[in-house]
Amino acid sequence: MKEQIKVLKYYLYYKYFLRLRSRRCLVRRQARRIKKHLQYVSSCSVLYRGKRKLRDYPIVDKEFMMEHFQEINTVGIGREEAEEFAVRAERERNFLPKLRGVTVGLSSGTSGKRGIFLVSDEERVRWAGYILAKFLPVRIWEKCSIGFFMRADSNLYQSIGSNRIAFHFFDIYQDLEKHKKRLEKIYPDILVGQPSVLLEIGKDMEMDKLKISPRIVISIAEVLEREDEKRLKRMFGLKMIHQVYQCTEGFLASTCRCGTLHLNEEIVHIEKEYLDKKRFIPIVTDFERRAQPIIRYRLNDILVEKKGRCCCKSPCLALEKIEGREDDIFIFRGKDGKEKLVFPDFIRRCVLFAESEKKVKKEKWWENRENVVYDYRVVQKEDGGLIFYGDFTESEKGQIRQELKKLAEDREFVMPQVVFEKYECEKGRKMKRVERKGSVACKTHKAGVM
Ligand SMILES: [Zn+2]
Repeated sequence: MKEQIKVLKYYLYYKYFLRLRSRRCLVRRQARRIKKHLQYVSSCSVLYRGKRKLRDYPIVDKEFMMEHFQEINTVGIGREEAEEFAVRAERERNFLPKLRGVTVGLSSGTSGKRGIFLVSDEERVRWAGYILAKFLPVRIWEKCSIGFFMRADSNLYQSIGSNRIAFHFFDIYQDLEKHKKRLEKIYPDILVGQPSVLLEIGKDMEMDKLKISPRIVISIAEVLEREDEKRLKRMFGLKMIHQVYQCTEGFLASTCRCGTLHLNEEIVHIEKEYLDKKRFIPIVTDFERRAQPIIRYRLNDILVEKKGRCCCKSPCLALEKIEGREDDIFIFRGKDGKEKLVFPDFIRRCVLFAESEKKVKKEKWWENRENVVYDYRVVQKEDGGLIFYGDFTESEKGQIRQELKKLAEDREFVMPQVVFEKYECEKGRKMKRVERKGSVACKTHKAGVM
């Protein structure tokens, strides 16, 4: 009960009391919080001892964090111990136990490297209050049912629940068929899941195989492509699909009431490493997390900045989208012999331009419906060749080649080998529309290591 009161306290704080009217106001608050936070970290973390100013901290990445796990965290938990604990929870599908009062979790890590996170009780209730303030469609004392599709449950998510707010975890490792009955029974007001799972649910709803009608749909864990977003809006009959950009390193961004994704700068400070005029790699400092300090942590995601102020008037930076992983930048051989880097978005466009033709030509019931998209994936193999997975017609294949050729001319790279295959999605893995396979890391800038 005490915990619920704390959640309520944070909910009220973030929803009603914290008013950041201008960017200046936000920056000033951040500076104050960071100063206070670093005072704590510099006295309690072995690795960061004595470091009082943010600029004194090195830029770190996942590898560094895992390597120095014990010296960084302030709760004295060793990496092996934490890993063993988290793996056991995953294996037994029992996510409630804590390790010496601390919630331990694993991050799946698309790049194959596993991350571990530690969250204290205080951080957990704060997180729950913040999430509820951001997304709860009703007031906190009204009834609400949340259906949550995830790889692993956690104490973290359970803290959202209360007498009024029912939180239901659905294990994505189990077949969706098995979940349907329960899903209809709980009839969620809020549905949370990764886009690939939401699309599956949406398809069943369209075919009348599943009768639910969530008021809010929140996409998590995978990149939400614009086409999938449109498709989900249509499937669920909603004006907006919310997005949560959250990883081991913190709750980084979420959608506002106008449908724009904003960085959660009330709780994180983001330094930007620009790749071009609007694309950047975020370097995150979370000034609320004490158990496992996240300071100047370089992610390998590419974010795209949105220019201009959002209609919600939030001073937090607006994003056009999360474009994907830095590792998924395609690498082609330039005509000058050098490597040419191409952002995932340009590859995506090659498929989408071809698809727009399809909409005009096909004479089926959905012919004139807007935003019809097809499942596709583009993978760059280690040898540089491309595989387009999808049910493309011959003419579409021709168009895709044509678009790619144009891109190759524009960007001056040698046209790679292209093959087309039937659409397939690897089950149990995060879905990525555009993906580069290969062991060579494409770091536009290597993270500095101490
Ligand atoms: Zn906004």
